[in-house]
Formats: sequence, structure tokens, C-alpha cells
Amino acid sequence: MTKRDYYEILGVSRDATAEEIKTAYRKLALKYHPDRNPDDPEAEAKFKEAAEAYEVLRDPQKRAQYDRFGHAGLGNGYGGGFESTEDIFNTFSDIFAEFFGFGSTSGSYARPGADLRYNLTISFREAAKGTEVDLNIPKRETCSQCGGSGAEPGSKIEICPQCGGRGQVYRSQGFFRVSMPCPMCSGRGEIIRNPCKKCKGRGVVRVTKTIKVRVPAGVDNGTRLRIRGEGEAGEYGGPPGDLYVVIYVEEDKVFRREGQDLIVRVEVSFAQAALGAKIKVPTLDEPVDMEIPKGTQSGEVFKLRGLGLPALNSPYKGDLLVEVIVKTPQNLTKRQVELLKEFEEIEQSKKESGFKKIFKKVMGG
Ligand SMILES: [Zn+2]
Ligand SMILES: [Zn+2]
Repeated sequence: MTKRDYYEILGVSRDATAEEIKTAYRKLALKYHPDRNPDDPEAEAKFKEAAEAYEVLRDPQKRAQYDRFGHAGLGNGYGGGFESTEDIFNTFSDIFAEFFGFGSTSGSYARPGADLRYNLTISFREAAKGTEVDLNIPKRETCSQCGGSGAEPGSKIEICPQCGGRGQVYRSQGFFRVSMPCPMCSGRGEIIRNPCKKCKGRGVVRVTKTIKVRVPAGVDNGTRLRIRGEGEAGEYGGPPGDLYVVIYVEEDKVFRREGQDLIVRVEVSFAQAALGAKIKVPTLDEPVDMEIPKGTQSGEVFKLRGLGLPALNSPYKGDLLVEVIVKTPQNLTKRQVELLKEFEEIEQSKKESGFKKIFKKVMGG
């Protein structure tokens, strides 16, 4: 197979400047980037071919050799010295860094996508147990038809003649040289003669995407879940933003929360509190039995270890705090009234005899 001409591969003329060569390569690398063309051997071949052409033409010595002797001047079977696409990323890291908006220079027009926020309200029990929800998120996605280039598949993208692909033009204003987005290409650096029909040349389309979100057990009001890459699509090869799901937890009729601890109120009768009893306590799962000792006072709190909420990303669980409330009996029958009166008389006489004892002691009797 005869090798294609390096200038032809990059689509530049033989007297192209170093800047033009770089710009041309950047466009091709972006177009055939493996992230945007997964499992596409043709795109991968083009990606490697462009890297090889750029590797030679950016180097004045190699370029001179190539200009004089063609491919033979570099040695037969010259492949740019790249073992893999990873190699290409490393060698031209400056170029790829620009795609993704880091350390960008005037030549960069890749824009990262915006982050999105979604407020999700879930029940108290869902927060405690964890849940999985399908969210319908309206957002911008890279156009599948043109892969985000904005050009109709098969059509040509031309480097903007006014700005030479930089996307910026300079204008003198008094003493200053100010840069502004190129009016011809609106800062894109390229001219699309034949815009993609699906996205009308924008490279992104509005969609409503269903995204499955796993809400881990133990989330609380205001917990933010970050779903990487599910924000708005980036423009011109920029990375997508992230989706932040902000959790709102509904109040529960039975449980309150304090950190990882759950608090529950359980009512007991006056007699149960006085005599001690085995009572049923609701938990996040089945109710459990709990013993309260005799003489339990209203408002006393008992701790059931490990029956609280899980901590996020940790095996630690909080406790269930059981607040016992003693109910004063109401709607008494005649018999109950008699019994309570008798009960109270005994209580009073206990007190009086107690007083008498103390009195005797004080008087030295
Ligand atoms: Zn499109
Ligand atoms: Zn322009």
C-alpha cells in the first residue's frame, strides 16, 4: 500500500506555517479521537495517520527531509514511532490538553459541558435503606449523527480563512491589541459548509435521557451525589459536565434522625413503667422486643445498639434511641378509680411514716 502524502493527510499546503500545521492536526485529532469513535478501526487508523504526519511536519529537520525525498527520506516503513494511541496522547499532550480545556491557549475552542443539578426528594425509609431511581434529565448530548463536529457526515470542515483556525482575531484599539471571537466562524476556528441535518451544525442535540441513579443507604438532607459525565455535553470536543443529584429527605411519622442515630418514641402505661415490662419497639425492619426496668420515668431514653442508620461508605451504624413516654391513664372505670385512690392513700401513708422516722431522728427520740 502506498503511503499518503503527509500534507494531504493534514489537508494543508506544502508551504503551510507551523501554526497552520498544528491547527490542522488538532482538528483531525479531535475528529478521530478514540473517545469519540469507540471501536471504529477506520477512525483509529486515521487518528494514527494524522499523528504520524504531524510528528514529521512539526519538526523542521524531518519536514525538510520529507520535502526533498518524500517517505523514503525518513526510512521505509516509518510510522512516526508510535506504539499505541496512548503514545500519541503522551507525545502531543499539549494538543490534547487544549481539547479538554486545561492550560488552553488562544487556539483552543473546546468547551467543557456545564454541570447539571437535579433535586431528588425521597422518603425517610428510602434514605435509610438506599434506593435506585430513574431520573429523566433534559440535557444536551453530543450529536450522534456528526459525532459533535456539526458537519454532515462525509462533508468537509474547512479551517476558517479569517482567523486561520484560531477562533480569535486581533484588533488594535489605541495602544491595545484586543482579541475577540472571530466574526466569520463565531470563534469555532472552522467553517462548516454543509451543517449536520440532525443538530443544524451545533454538534449537540437536546435530549431527555433516563439515568439510573443508585442512592446509597444513609443519605441525608443535602447529600450531593455526583454522577460523572452525565451533565451537558461539551462543545467541540470538550468533556461533558457532571450531574449532581441533591437529596431531600421527607420527614417520617415514626422516626427522627440525629446524625446516624434514629430516635423513636414509645408510649407505655403507668403500670408498665412502674412494674417494668417487655415492650415492642419499631425499627427500620421488624419491630423488636425491649425490656424496660421497673420504675422507668417518662422521657427516659434506652439505646438499642446498631439499629440506627448506616454511615455513607462505611460499615458503621448508628443506634436506635428509644424514648419512653409514660401515658397518664384516662377514661377510668369506677374500679380503676377505687384502686388508684387506694394506691394513692398507701403512697401518702408511706410518705408520712417516712417523715415520722426522720422527725424522730432529728428530735433524738
Ligand atoms: Zn450533528
Ligand atoms: Zn474564524
